[in-house]
Amino acid sequence: MKPNLLKPQPVQDSVMAPEPTFALHGQPSLGLSSLAEALKAGLSQRRYRFQTEASEPHLVLNFITPTAALPYRRRAQATFVLSLLELPEIPAEPVKALYQYLVRALSNMLLVYAPGQGAHFLTLELGHFVEPEGERFIERLLDRIEPIASSTLVINNIFDPELEPELWQGDAQTKALSKAGELLKAWDLLPAPFPIEEILSPQDLRHVKRLYGIGGLSYGNLSARRDDKRFWMSASGVDKAKLREIGRDILLVKDYDAEANAMRLSVPPRLEPRRVSVDAIEHWLIYREHPSVQAIIHVHAWMDGVPSTQFNYPCGTYQLGEAVAEQVRQAKDPASAVIGLKNHGLTITGRSVEEILKRIEGRLLNQVPMS
Ligand SMILES: [Zn+2]
Repeated sequence: MKPNLLKPQPVQDSVMAPEPTFALHGQPSLGLSSLAEALKAGLSQRRYRFQTEASEPHLVLNFITPTAALPYRRRAQATFVLSLLELPEIPAEPVKALYQYLVRALSNMLLVYAPGQGAHFLTLELGHFVEPEGERFIERLLDRIEPIASSTLVINNIFDPELEPELWQGDAQTKALSKAGELLKAWDLLPAPFPIEEILSPQDLRHVKRLYGIGGLSYGNLSARRDDKRFWMSASGVDKAKLREIGRDILLVKDYDAEANAMRLSVPPRLEPRRVSVDAIEHWLIYREHPSVQAIIHVHAWMDGVPSTQFNYPCGTYQLGEAVAEQVRQAKDPASAVIGLKNHGLTITGRSVEEILKRIEGRLLNQVPMS
């Protein structure tokens, strides 16, 4: 056990946003125009600097309409796009009916405003929560939006084609991960990925893939420790019920490169690797701090009475990783923790993949409570 593995180190200043900036894009509809002004004033009050689109803002408020859900084309990967849409009424099944706008506008988050009723938020992770109109409405909206603008996405991968030949076909851990993926599917804990290919043009799909390494949205991920520094983890956007190929379905994470703000992976040579799950930073933070943690499973499901993070940070941000790691640190046994991710799902640590599955079997609720 090396002492430096135990000491959590803050993310480098260079990747943090000391003074977040924001920009507006698109034309707000009538109902949204006063909301836009109020949000703009509120963000400025909270020391967010308004920027023209020429540079690379941290947050973009992208105004769309039902017929023109046009994307804001990021120049910087770390730009968070909140798309805003006005509707006379919120549909009965908001996630089902509105998720397409979120994806079509290539946004990280969608705010649907129904004048007189309130705002519904949708997140990329299928989160859905409501702020009714009334007292402190703008403040409450900003409380949802603002911390995201200053969060740091860790979605870049650096691939080192140096994986030991004896691991090219995987090991006992990767076999356990494949099995666990099949089981999660059988337990109906892997929601069907959103059919992103059906609603995006090939050009937009390429844009999404470049930005997030998403090859078709898919939810949940699993990992298992290989040794004191490295761990195996499922790839991004792949079917978790069919984890087979090393470097494509399962990757070996060896480190987080703070300077490049990227995960470093060992992959077999002569293979076009897929990206690792965006939650790799979260798992990395947990493994680094707790040598006793041997496996981690993340599902979009819930369990009654679990401790939870307080804010809905998006997947793949350093801040979500830190918030989860903090809850793991507080757990009676960090190697046997079930942590709630607010409006999102669960991260579960264990002594092996099998041990986690045994512990959670029959205890998970498929519906994540939203607040
Ligand atoms: Zn998730």
